[in-house]
Amino acid sequence: MHFFAYKNGELYAEDVPVIEIIKEFGTPLYIYSYGTIIRHIRAYEEAFCEVPHIICYAVKANSNLALLNIFAQLGLGADIVSGGELFRALKAGIKNYRIVFAGVGKSDEEIEYALKNDILMFNVESEEELYKINDMAKKLKKKAQVALRVNPDIDPKTHKYIATGLKTSKFGIPIEKAIEYYKIAKSLDYIEVIGIHKHIGSQITDTKAYEEALSKIINLYDKLIKFDLKIDYLDIGGGLGITYKDESPPLPKDLANCLLPLLKNKKGKLILEPGRSIVGNAGILLTKILYTKKTENKNFFIVDAGMNDLIRPTLYGSYHEIQPVISKDRDRIVVDIVGPICESGDFLAKDREIEKLSPGEYLAVMSAGAYGFSMSSNYNSRPRAAEVLVKGDKYALIRKRETYKDLIRNEIIPEDLL
Ligand SMILES: *Cc1c(COP(=O)(O)O)cnc(C)c1O
Repeated sequence: MHFFAYKNGELYAEDVPVIEIIKEFGTPLYIYSYGTIIRHIRAYEEAFCEVPHIICYAVKANSNLALLNIFAQLGLGADIVSGGELFRALKAGIKNYRIVFAGVGKSDEEIEYALKNDILMFNVESEEELYKINDMAKKLKKKAQVALRVNPDIDPKTHKYIATGLKTSKFGIPIEKAIEYYKIAKSLDYIEVIGIHKHIGSQITDTKAYEEALSKIINLYDKLIKFDLKIDYLDIGGGLGITYKDESPPLPKDLANCLLPLLKNKKGKLILEPGRSIVGNAGILLTKILYTKKTENKNFFIVDAGMNDLIRPTLYGSYHEIQPVISKDRDRIVVDIVGPICESGDFLAKDREIEKLSPGEYLAVMSAGAYGFSMSSNYNSRPRAAEVLVKGDKYALIRKRETYKDLIRNEIIPEDLL
């Protein structure tokens, strides 16, 4: 079942005509489907039900409080990569004891904040970070629970910006150093080792890389157990891909089928950190066509959503399906769909065949729920988009559109200086 589908040529979000929501909130606008999110969470829960596990949703994929609140209500944890994400997760009601904290550059303030809130564990990415966390924990008279993020040197065959488990990447601890670092961790008074972590990248569309990476990690796990280390948590990261165009990524159950046999007879709890595969296909970005334009060798739809609203096409060359909100039987045209921003990289699609729409009509950019709003910016002093959540035949605003005032909220003209 698709929660974004046409009825009589009109795009619906669940049971609500998208045009109705646009009329109320304007564009650019993100719309999320509650039903889709729930379906994706269930798919993970069911796939991994036979082993003890925690799903720690990767907050950076989409960090809206209302969505985080859905996850909190369902008992999910959070995978965070900053103090700001910890703040959001806690505000939304996610339990501190289900929060894991990754990231190569955790600041002193962030570490202190996480320690004070007794999160489940820090996924430590370097030797220096280990000492830093130990020092900070000592000051607070606490024990920091940690896993080491191990870099298994696996190529996940994805865009180079989102491959994180290669030898040349900044992430994690080289697997050949892992035992040495675990021994250091064990020797530190304010550190308690409780797990292993890996995350090899994002938008992964085949299980092979997962399997190889997990085998390496399990090999390490077996060795660590021999050194009397307590590994209660095996955190295998996120990264499952979604369908943007014609990919057919594994489903959570495919992932479970390939990984669970490797985990037979291993004690401890599994942690999964899905982001994109939970929210990616649960969101769309609506935009209005402002102008159409024809040059010698190109046709353009100039729309009111730009790379500040959705940077994926610009940043990764990503493909997003783009569909008319009201679809009719009419001529088709090949166009570049571009935003209003003063950059040639500001496009949503290139050379795309689509219905010949007119200014004032609306487009839906599909699969925009992950790394869409969360990567948006105010570039060109554009207020960020509004966000709406649809559930059945009801919907609610979950983030107001920013105003011009919001843009300058924190800015100061220093009268004394000028
Ligand atoms: C980004 C990230 C994730 C989520 O990745 P997806 O591809 O969105 O599932 C999980 N874990 C860590 C450590 C991450 O940095």
